[in-house]
Amino acid sequence: GNITFSMIKPTATQNNHTGHIINMITNAGFHVIAIKMLHLSKDQAKAFYGVHEGKEFFERLIDFMSSGPIVAMVLKKENAVEDYRKLMGATDPAKAAEGTIRKLYATSMTMNAVHGSDSDENASLESRFFFSDFEVF
Ligand code: ATP
Ligand code: MG
Repeated sequence: GNITFSMIKPTATQNNHTGHIINMITNAGFHVIAIKMLHLSKDQAKAFYGVHEGKEFFERLIDFMSSGPIVAMVLKKENAVEDYRKLMGATDPAKAAEGTIRKLYATSMTMNAVHGSDSDENASLESRFFFSDFEVF
């Protein structure tokens, strides 16, 4: 697939890292084809991360994701899903490779700066969660 869905998470937005993270994304060859900043309610965060309901970190994740503004983006590039997950780095910032977004900006396993879809199917579902057809180019 050639699209993925990404978010810049709270804390990264509040600490003014949005500009640099978008620079890293475009320098890596992605095109931003849709973008918006918004603040998720707890219910919206639960709906987005519903697959993790019941896990021990779920409440922390929902509280965090609804704690401040996020930037939602649809990114286009050949091999987008896999390449963007490489650019993000590992979920656990202690394991994230040098030069990745999470290595630079994640502060914990929960507060890990960015989200990226894990499959073409989820890229499409997640893009539609945030954007209507006429917002994506
Ligand atoms: P994301 O889906 O946000 O891109 P990911 O695919 O790397 O991250 P997932 O396993 O899908 O990781 O987990 C979703 C999010 O839940 C993680 O980004 C992280 O913020 C949080 N999370 C996952 N595992 C843990 C954990 N063990 N402790 C705390 N938070 C966690
Ligand atoms: Mg995930």
